[in-house]
Amino acid sequence: MAEKFDLVVIGGGSGGIAHARRAAEYGAQVAVIEYGPLGGTCVNVGCVPKKIMWYTASHAHHFEHAADYGFTVNVDGHDWAALKARRDAYVSRLNGIYESNLDSSGVRYIAGAARFVDAHTVAVGDRQYRGERIVIATGGRPQVPDIPGAEHGITSDEFFQLENRPERVLVAGSGYIAVELAGVFNALGSQTRVVVRKDSVIREFDEMLGEQLMQAMEHDGIQVETRFIPARIEKTTAGLVLHAQDGRSFGPVDAVLWAIGRAPNVEGLAAEKAGVAIDVRGFIPTDELQQTNVEHIFALGDVTGRAALTPVAIAAGRRLADRLYGGMQGRHLDYELIPTVIFSHPPIGTVGLTEQQARARYGDAIRVYSSAFTPMYYALGEKKQRSVMKLITTGDDEKVVGCHVIGDGADELLQGFAVAIRMGATKADFDDTVAIHPTNAEELVTMR
Ligand code: FAD
Ligand code: NDP
Repeated sequence: MAEKFDLVVIGGGSGGIAHARRAAEYGAQVAVIEYGPLGGTCVNVGCVPKKIMWYTASHAHHFEHAADYGFTVNVDGHDWAALKARRDAYVSRLNGIYESNLDSSGVRYIAGAARFVDAHTVAVGDRQYRGERIVIATGGRPQVPDIPGAEHGITSDEFFQLENRPERVLVAGSGYIAVELAGVFNALGSQTRVVVRKDSVIREFDEMLGEQLMQAMEHDGIQVETRFIPARIEKTTAGLVLHAQDGRSFGPVDAVLWAIGRAPNVEGLAAEKAGVAIDVRGFIPTDELQQTNVEHIFALGDVTGRAALTPVAIAAGRRLADRLYGGMQGRHLDYELIPTVIFSHPPIGTVGLTEQQARARYGDAIRVYSSAFTPMYYALGEKKQRSVMKLITTGDDEKVVGCHVIGDGADELLQGFAVAIRMGATKADFDDTVAIHPTNAEELVTMR
C-alpha cells in the first residue's frame, strides 16, 4: 500500500525544498525525496562552496594590493586542506539546517532514490508513495565529453573533493564554471590554462563581457587558448596531456577540469511510467506554469533546462506552491530579465538583453552607453584592473533593456539595478538618481 500525500517532491535541492516548504505552509501534506545530501547542487557542490573559494581567491587578490596601502604582508602560503575542512564543516551545518527546516515546516523527508511506478505513485526501494500532485526537481550533473581518456579529468563535483591544490591545471570549457574555477586556481597559485572551443569565453552574454573577461584573465596570468576542441586525454608519468582535434596539445598537468555544461538528472526516474515527456537533451519541458504534459505533474529548476540558477529554481518553486496551494491564481515565474552574476575575477553582473539581442529585436531604436575606467581602489599601485559598464536603451523614452558590468563590485551592485530595470526604468531615471560617490556603481547613473 502506498503512503498518501497531497504532494510528493522528487529532489531536495534549491527548487524542491523551496516548493515543498511553501506548500506545507499552506497546509499541504508534503514529502520530499532526496538521494544525496539535502540542499542539492547549490549547497553541496555549487554556489555555496564555490563562493567560499571565490572569497579565498579574492583574499589573494587583496594581498597583492596591501603594500599599496602601506601594509607589510608576508603571505606564507595557503593551506588548501585546512580551508576545505572548514568549508566542508560549513556545508555540513547547512545540510543539518535544511533537514531541521523541513522538519519544522512539517515536510516529511524521505532519503533514497525515487522512481515513478505510475502517474501518481513513486517508489523508493520497496516503499511506495502516492501524490495527488508530483513535482520533479531533480536538477543536473556535470557533463564529460565522450572522448578517450576523458575519465582522467575531473568535474566541478570533484573540484570540491580536492584535498590539495593541483600545481598545473587545464580547464576545458568557456561558461560560468570554467571562468569561475580557473580564477580560483590562478589566484591561489596554480599554473592555469583555459581551453575554449570557439573564440571567446561566456559567449552567451554581451560580447563586451567576454572580451573584457578574457583580457582580465590573461592580465592575471591565465592562458586562454581559443579554437581548441578536446580530442583525448593521455595519461603520462609526468601528468595528463590534453590533445586537440587539430594536433595541438597542452600538458603535462596535474588536473584537467571539464566545465562544458550540465545534463539533467532523469536517468533512473522512469518518467515514462508516468507518461512524462522528456526532450531530446533529456530536459523535462513545462509550460509557463511549470506544468509538464501530465496535468498533475510539474517540473522546476535545472531539470527543465531554463536559466539554471538557484534563485530561479526557488522562485519557480515558491510561485508554483502559491498558485497550487495558496489560492494565487495564475501566479508563475516570469523568465525575462533574470539578473545573474559570474563570480570571475573581476566579477560580472548582467541583466536583460545583450547589444546583439537588442539590435535584433529593436533595430535602430536602441542606444548604447558605455563607460570604461580604472576604479580608485587601484590608484596607489601599479597593478590595475579595469571596469567596463554598458547600458542598452530602446525607444524615444530610452527604456533600459540591458545592463552589463564587469569589474569590482559588479556582483553586489547589480541587484538594485535589476529592480529598477524590471520596473521599467528609463535612462532619464538613471540620470535623475543622484550618484553615490566615490563608488564604481555611480558610473551607471552618470553615463552620457
Ligand atoms: P539541485 O539543487 O541540483 O537539486 C536536485 C536534487 O535532486 C539533488 O539534490 C539530487 O541529488 C536530487 N535527485 C536527483 N534525482 C533524484 C531521484 N531520482 N530521487 C531522489 N533525489 C534525486 N547558481 C546560482 O544562482 N549562483 C551561483 O553562484 C551558482 N554557482 C554554481 C556553481 C557550480 C559549480 C554549479 C555546478 C552550479 C552553480 N549554480 C549557481 C547553479 C545552481 O546550483 C543550480 O541552478 C541549482 O542548484 C538548481 O536547483 P534545482 O533544485 O533545480 O536542482
Ligand atoms: P555553461 O553552460 O555555462 O557553459 C558551458 C560551455 O562549455 C558551453 O556554453 C560551450 O561554450 C562549452 N562547451 C560545451 N560543450 C563543449 C565541449 N564538448 N568541449 C568544449 N567546450 C564545450 O556550463 P557550466 O558547466 O559552466 O555551468 C552550468 C550552468 O550552471 C550554467 O549555465 C549556469 O546556469 C549554472 N552556474 C551558475 C553560476 C552562477 O550563477 N555564478 C556558476 C556556475 C554555474 P562554447 O559554445 O563557447 O564552446
